[in-house]
Amino acid sequence: MAEWRGREFTIVDTAGLDMDGGKNESRAAIEAQTKVAIQEADLIVLLLDVREGLTPIDREIVHLLRRSSRRVLVAANKADSPNDRHFAHEITELGFDEPSLVSAQHGLGVGDFLDRVVEALPAAAEEPEGDSKADRLAIMGRPNVGKSSLLNALLGDERALVSPLPGTTRDPVDTELVYDGIPVVLVDTAGIRRKSSARDRLEQYSLMRGIHAMERADAVLLVIEASTGVLAQDQHVAGYALEAGKGLVIVVNKIDLVEPAQRKPAHWRTVLTRSFKFAPFAPIVTVSALTKESIGSVIPAALEVVGQRRIKMPPNELNKVLRQAFTEHPPPSFKGRRLRLGYATQAASESPTVVMFVNDVGLLHFSYRRYLEKAIRDRFGLHGNPLKLVLRAASDRRTSAPGRALRAGPTSPRSGEVKGRPPRVAGR
Ligand code: GDP
Repeated sequence: MAEWRGREFTIVDTAGLDMDGGKNESRAAIEAQTKVAIQEADLIVLLLDVREGLTPIDREIVHLLRRSSRRVLVAANKADSPNDRHFAHEITELGFDEPSLVSAQHGLGVGDFLDRVVEALPAAAEEPEGDSKADRLAIMGRPNVGKSSLLNALLGDERALVSPLPGTTRDPVDTELVYDGIPVVLVDTAGIRRKSSARDRLEQYSLMRGIHAMERADAVLLVIEASTGVLAQDQHVAGYALEAGKGLVIVVNKIDLVEPAQRKPAHWRTVLTRSFKFAPFAPIVTVSALTKESIGSVIPAALEVVGQRRIKMPPNELNKVLRQAFTEHPPPSFKGRRLRLGYATQAASESPTVVMFVNDVGLLHFSYRRYLEKAIRDRFGLHGNPLKLVLRAASDRRTSAPGRALRAGPTSPRSGEVKGRPPRVAGR
């Protein structure tokens, strides 16, 4: 994160690569990385060396930028003295806005350039007032598992302060509270409270409404019943939540109805392994909404999941973890070909998403995907959250320019390695 004149923004430095001349794999990695940057950025800063003029790699990047619709600001660096400006004309001819002459080393022109950056950024998203920063939780589950009872028990918890006045932007169907000092919104509590006598109608209604509520939430509290165990609908709801990229906490309710040995989360971890084998990362809490046993464990577990969801994976760390995974257990070969990684980066998505640029997206075997996901989780946690691994072909330019295809490293799995440079932080 950086801040200039009160405007906060994130700078991603894509220059962490070892640019060793014309080696194909290095160029492919640069191209892959540049594409990610173009896709994800609101504004692109093209940094050029005014004393050297344009290199072939610069021209390659310029070509990519021209084809994108993104706003580009050009900084011509190393403009240490007026005598060094002889390549400025070449840079001006690129057709972007007038380049800013800067000297990063001497700090010359940097402030003016940052002014331009801040001016060119799209308007900051208006932060809605009130509950926008609150963690948003949706309570879901089949009829009669105890959602409404759980809601009342949570609101009755001495650590929960229910907001007496509706906030200006607050949705009247939600409940806003402060739990241990942390703002929390329980999404669509009106839907949980509403009851219908026709059970079939209720079932249909509550599931659909619950899914809608889920879309507005950061994490889902999936309530199941200790005495009846897991039904198909419970699995469906958990599946929806994960597909939508939401965090998931499994709340086993009504533990007062089962033997003491069956009241602990560890017991349910074993019982639920098979039913929720697609979500081994979801924490389990066991409660009784009736007796209030362990009711205080529910919201902290959910807040932990929401926190894990917001983890940032620095690109150099992420690439290190993945390269190590590739080295320790190389991907199996398929028809004589092996998956190769060019570069990986976290996408700017609400839920944890990693984009991997590879030689061929068809070469990732399901079990190898699982293995890579585990390696990422072992390093970064992400407890309670789905992790999306998105594969992109590093050489998909082939379609537009068949004669000049750049391929992901054909020989070394270490091609395109990032040399330990985290995103830069600029500031005053
Ligand atoms: P909902 O349809 O999921 O909102 O479920 P309700 O909260 O309306 O609860 C359904 C029934 O289960 C009611 O009769 C509750 O009293 C009962 N119930 C809810 N939680 C518990 C619990 O922890 N233990 C027991 N024994 N009964 C519960």
